[in-house]
Amino acid sequence: MNHITFDRSNAKFPIPEVVTSFINGQSIVADNHGERLPAMCPSTEDTVSFLREADKAEVDAAVQAAREAFDKGPWPRMSMDERKRVMHQIRDVLLANIDEVAYLETLNAGITHGHTRGFHGPRMAWNFEFFAEVASQAAGEAYTQTKPYLSIVTREPIGVGALIGPWNAPIALCTMKIASCIAFGNTCVLKPSEFTPLSLRRVVELIHKTDIPKGVVNLVNGRGQVTGDALVSHPGVDVVSFTGGTTTGRAIAARAGQNLKPVALELGGKSANIVTASANLERALDGSLLAIYSNNGQQCLAGSRILVEKKIAAEFIDKFVKRSQQIIVGDPFEAKTQIGPLAYEAHMKRVLSYVDIAKSDGAELLTGGKRHTGFKKGYFIEPTAVLAKNNGARVCQEEIFGPFATFVTFEDIDEAIAIANQSEFGLVGYVWSEHLPTVMKVSQAIRAGTIWVNTPLTRELRAPFGGYKNSGIGRDSAHDCMTFFTEAKTTTIPLQDFPMAKWGA
Ligand code: NAD
Repeated sequence: MNHITFDRSNAKFPIPEVVTSFINGQSIVADNHGERLPAMCPSTEDTVSFLREADKAEVDAAVQAAREAFDKGPWPRMSMDERKRVMHQIRDVLLANIDEVAYLETLNAGITHGHTRGFHGPRMAWNFEFFAEVASQAAGEAYTQTKPYLSIVTREPIGVGALIGPWNAPIALCTMKIASCIAFGNTCVLKPSEFTPLSLRRVVELIHKTDIPKGVVNLVNGRGQVTGDALVSHPGVDVVSFTGGTTTGRAIAARAGQNLKPVALELGGKSANIVTASANLERALDGSLLAIYSNNGQQCLAGSRILVEKKIAAEFIDKFVKRSQQIIVGDPFEAKTQIGPLAYEAHMKRVLSYVDIAKSDGAELLTGGKRHTGFKKGYFIEPTAVLAKNNGARVCQEEIFGPFATFVTFEDIDEAIAIANQSEFGLVGYVWSEHLPTVMKVSQAIRAGTIWVNTPLTRELRAPFGGYKNSGIGRDSAHDCMTFFTEAKTTTIPLQDFPMAKWGA
């Protein structure tokens, strides 16, 4: 039996004893006030650090710092080229420290090091380069149709952003929020998930090793109900960008609505992955495994409902199950590991609870379904797959957010489309087929923000990403982030004198 250990004195990079807020360019000293919450290593179940929760007063200080930096500081007022230079410095400092940030992410979130070092880390740095470029290319509009007027539309930074992120891909997602917010001249307060504070605390420290003015990027840590709620409700915040669960999204939208603040919500999913008989089945199998099991199965865009055409279902499911049983579950720091531990204990228990839920709905357990027996400690579970009786089963309707695949079979493509759309969610859809009319039919009929054809999980940052229905409001993309994080201003000027009524003359 494997026993993965954690030894602070031998840690590859320093781990802070306590993680605090970072406000106005400074780390907040860890004094005795505020709740202390454990930051865990899900591979070993050790408490590796503590999070000192930011209370209302600390959140207020962070928003005030961001407000001051926006209302009076140099960041919104500097030239785009100067801002771009600083964004490139941030990219460079993050790249220079990518090993440390990836280490902290794997330690605290359990995402495999292959993924944090090879994918999320580079994406974290690239986010700053990408949004610096987007902002530097952004142009206004001019209208001359109404003579003799010229109306120009300029885009101005919107102000202070409240940025709230989840635990499943902290560095990739939260840096996208920071970069897309500040590139347009805004300032921000970030609140990462209370389960994964380590990596982002270091990222914010590193950002301050550049010429970024103080108060532009602030960080508060703590639980959603305490720190998050104080941030979203703060009247000094101008805009709220949230990624997380659908229930939380509703609460946040309601709070932001009270202050009439725009809100973007990237929420959950239960995406259909349609495998047709006209697919290249080998590629469909590879892609379907990646779509549900990568990132430890904890991803909003997972292909978690696998809809398979009846005439190929038995063979496809059989192969999928055999491959699932050969997936390497283990220490996320080992290069060969494909699935690491789930992020925290309560989450692991919730994922496993769906095995009984599936059975009580008449589903057949195909493989997995229990805690992995190969480890003394850690939140490891076996890659799991069930075959549901129909799409009404809870395992087809609820987001499980783990390495848990649900199969449903279909007779023809019209039935597959109907099943795919029988969902409260609409984040992405997958289709595997070599037959163009089938691909186009599915792509047009599915009510989801992104359709992946014969490919799993391909994010194009330039193109809109976001959900239909309960998967969210708004989109991330070059253009969408520009409109979300700026206010449009129309200025109208007559190009010549024109007759004007002389009231009172
Ligand atoms: P969550 O909703 O529990 O928490 C997300 C964040 O919101 C955390 O920082 C949390 O502290 C904070 N929060 C909770 N309650 C709050 C409140 N009342 N006010 C303010 N902040 C509050 O989600 P999670 O468990 O961290 O993440 C998993 C969820 O995120 C899944 O549903 C997943 O699908 C979704 N997700 C969506 C996307 C996307 O792009 N659509 C990407 C990643 C994850």
